Amino acid sequence: MMKKEEQQNQPRRNNPYFGFFLGILLIMFLNGLVFPRLLEQQIVNTDYGTFISLVDGGKIKQVKIEENRIYFSALNEESKEVTYQTGAINDSELVDRLLKAESPNENGKIVFTKTIPRESSPILNFLLMWVLPGFLFYIFWRQISKMMQTRMSDGGNVMSFGKSGAKIYAESEVKTTFADVAGQEEGKEALAEIVDFLHNPEKYTSIGASLPKGALLVGPPGTGKTLIARAVAGEAKVPFFSISGSEFVQMFVGMGAAKVRDLFKQATEKAPCIIFIDEIDAIGKKRDNAFGGGNDEREQTLNQLLTEMDGFDGRKGVVILAATNRPEILDKALFRPGRFDRRIQMELPDLEGRKAILEVHLKKVKHEKVNLDIVARATAGTSGAELANIVNEAALKAVRMGRNKITTNDLEECVEVVIAGAQKKGKVISEKEKKIIAYHEIGHAMVAAKQTNSAPVHKITIVPRTSGALGYTMQVDSGEQNLMSKEEMLNRIATLTGGRAAEEIICETVTTGASNDIEQATKIARAMVTRYGMSEKYDMMGLETTNNAYLGGDSSLTCSADTAAEVDSEVLQIIKNAHSKAARLITENIEKMHQTAGFLLEKETITGDEFMEILNK
Ligand code: ADP
Ligand code: MG
Ligand code: ZN
Repeated sequence: MMKKEEQQNQPRRNNPYFGFFLGILLIMFLNGLVFPRLLEQQIVNTDYGTFISLVDGGKIKQVKIEENRIYFSALNEESKEVTYQTGAINDSELVDRLLKAESPNENGKIVFTKTIPRESSPILNFLLMWVLPGFLFYIFWRQISKMMQTRMSDGGNVMSFGKSGAKIYAESEVKTTFADVAGQEEGKEALAEIVDFLHNPEKYTSIGASLPKGALLVGPPGTGKTLIARAVAGEAKVPFFSISGSEFVQMFVGMGAAKVRDLFKQATEKAPCIIFIDEIDAIGKKRDNAFGGGNDEREQTLNQLLTEMDGFDGRKGVVILAATNRPEILDKALFRPGRFDRRIQMELPDLEGRKAILEVHLKKVKHEKVNLDIVARATAGTSGAELANIVNEAALKAVRMGRNKITTNDLEECVEVVIAGAQKKGKVISEKEKKIIAYHEIGHAMVAAKQTNSAPVHKITIVPRTSGALGYTMQVDSGEQNLMSKEEMLNRIATLTGGRAAEEIICETVTTGASNDIEQATKIARAMVTRYGMSEKYDMMGLETTNNAYLGGDSSLTCSADTAAEVDSEVLQIIKNAHSKAARLITENIEKMHQTAGFLLEKETITGDEFMEILNK
């Protein structure tokens, strides 16, 4: 947690003396007014005559004679025992009377005693009644105000910089642990060493080793970089100073190199501790003008950061973690040994990883037995953050439906929500349009199913989504795939053209519904030619480079304009071939097309199994 305070306003402290006097007043009030009243309420005042007549009437059970008062318990008209008090009178016959009188007690005798007047010292009384409670109260109050003070300043775990009042607060107790980070085993393993070092540095220093001063977490957004950094702090149980790159810029850039030096100096005093710089690309950009022009101030700050990382003592137990999703724009100098010399790659989760992440997040919600496999298979390419979102959406959906547990079905629905946008309710689609949409989607599915290598369809729906997709074919890969063969890519393109082909052949029209298919098919075909060396003509010549591998992967052509034109015709040829293949498959299976589309039109949803059943009948 980090805050920048504009002015240093003194935390409002509660004066302990005020509390002390408040306590005294409270005790006086209780002792003087409340307690006696409470006690008196149960005792009925009465006169001596009534007492005597009760004694003679044989109603008294117990009598207790004090210096000035007589307390006695007697049965009233309803035979309930009531305690009375009356003033004591110098009555010499009282004892006789009590001895002779009858009583409802078992042995028929009144039990009576006279208390021995206790010579209570007024000083002791005063001590017990006033001083001791006051003292206890004072100690109690001291403790509370101390707790409040430490909370305000985070137990002294704060680094403050100069007069500007800029402060970095440490989170004293990070609750995140490695158990919260699913998958990412390599990352955890690499960081476990750092945790171990922070736990017992002697083990490493005794042999003369000093630990990496910094580790850089690299990977696409939402893969858990911030999460794992917190987990390191949680595991190591050390103060965790977290600052984002932009806050760092705001705090340190333009403040002079001394500030950065100060940061490291203070960190060393707080050692062992972790400093986490999130989104470090904000400061760590390459020191040249290629990315948005030079920035002298920023460069100097970066320089200072680098120098300080070199200079500070790695055996002290200060570990610097940083995270970024754009490693390619970082200054190479940051990676030099002695700086961020560990680079920890966080990847998008694979099938097993996705299952594990879903499991971690399902632990936080109530759910029935969930088929994780289906959900994990349907979510290829999603990040941990998206999976967390899917689970949360599913929980929200369950609540909306008035259920108190998540089902597999909820999760499946929410995969579609997160990937394809929520179901669009109330959007009216004409019957004619619905028919076109159904045949379009079935067209994709048919082409996919008829090509053995294509992934079987999991589910097709023609319930429109808010994202604008009118129908949706959920493809579920049967296994984790890292390599794609040329055939598979061609099949994929054919599947994508299948929707349009069905429109043409069956509905005898073409619609705008295929725009996304066109975009995707073109992208794949182009990549085949320019990046994967899958065309005859260009063999293994690379025609494109990828920038920003972790952020969508824009690419730019590296060939001449003439070649670019030829690439276009090559791409066109691939798509044309795929399109005619799709058209052929649909014409060959036109009967099945009608059957499955009929089913879909009626039910609005068809699962892969239902589809295959009709197909194989
Ligand atoms: P990043 O910093 O890489 O962009 P975050 O660490 O902020 O991603 O992740 C965002 C959220 O996504 C986390 O709070 C967590 O709920 C979820 N998440 C991401 N990766 C994982 C993972 N490997 N295991 C469990 N949850 C994850
Ligand atoms: Mg992050
Ligand atoms: Zn389509």
